[in-house]
Amino acid sequence: MSVYLCGELEPPELEAWLRRLREALPEETIDHDLSRLGPAMVDVAVVANPAPGRLRDLGNLQLIQSLWAGVDRLLGDATLPLDVPLARMVDPAMADAMAETALWAVLSLQRGFFAYQRQQQAGRWQVLPQRRADELTVAVLGLGELGGRVAQRLSAQGYRVQGWRRGGGPLETVLGSSDVVVNLLPLTGETSALFNAARFAAMKPGAGFVNLARGAQVVEADLLAALDSGRVGHAVLDVFQTEPLPAGHAFWSHPSVTVLPHAAALTDPRSAAAVVAANVRALRDGRPLAHLVDRGRGY
Ligand code: NDP
Repeated sequence: MSVYLCGELEPPELEAWLRRLREALPEETIDHDLSRLGPAMVDVAVVANPAPGRLRDLGNLQLIQSLWAGVDRLLGDATLPLDVPLARMVDPAMADAMAETALWAVLSLQRGFFAYQRQQQAGRWQVLPQRRADELTVAVLGLGELGGRVAQRLSAQGYRVQGWRRGGGPLETVLGSSDVVVNLLPLTGETSALFNAARFAAMKPGAGFVNLARGAQVVEADLLAALDSGRVGHAVLDVFQTEPLPAGHAFWSHPSVTVLPHAAALTDPRSAAAVVAANVRALRDGRPLAHLVDRGRGY
């Protein structure tokens, strides 16, 4: 099979992916140079947010395998071939990394570690109340590959966890009964701008908000207003409307915001190359493909 690796990858990342994929699939031809493969020869495109139109002329394409778990940007490419199966990245190592990030954020909110960081910057010595894990209810929105693992890890740590997925009842009820809200929903038409003024107003006063999914799910001006009014006590944000977060953006210096550079859970070629290889082999051997995206649902 002919495998075309393409997308937004820095040269060292590209080299790492090529090496790992070639090790995992020694019998296949894998290249990032389309002229060497020949557009008509490509069977599989392994993609990391390719520029729109990049897959349009691959006449023999039989599988698009994303290296990223979220496929919202890919699905936004109007030229993406409609009849070619699209698979996303599902890797237990990524779910573990996401669970670590969520646990760090929730623990830090529970024990006031973000507040202590602010106090250090102000040179202030003051002990804050110590809350037990079982005194906090944590909402995990999205109970898929990542949210499911996050919910398990938080529950094992002693938090009261309530999950929310499609058909899970009114979101406002979940928001109103949670001390921390962790967002792990995919970005779709239904979840775009989900976190607006009304949703923040439905949250418990002073609750924590942890967004590890997509920036476009949050109306940033509404979150800033909710932080300024104290409705949201602290926000941990890994994803933003515009990435990288622009210089001078209010989130950078807001005392109640912790910023991460879209690093909550990276795809690691050391484990993820085997996930890609399994799907390429399934295609070659005529077995069912794994982790297919339902384009109608958008995830
Ligand atoms: P999955 O597709 O496995 O799970 C999605 C979950 O969200 C499912 O439980 C699904 O419900 C639920 N859901 C989808 N739409 C709705 C809706 N409208 N209302 C309520 N629930 C809904 O996704 P993953 O867990 O693998 O990934 C989640 C997201 O995390 C990705 O889409 C990506 O955007 C983000 N991500 C962020 C990273 C980072 O570093 N910050 C890294 C990797 C991913 P149901 O169970 O009913 O289908």
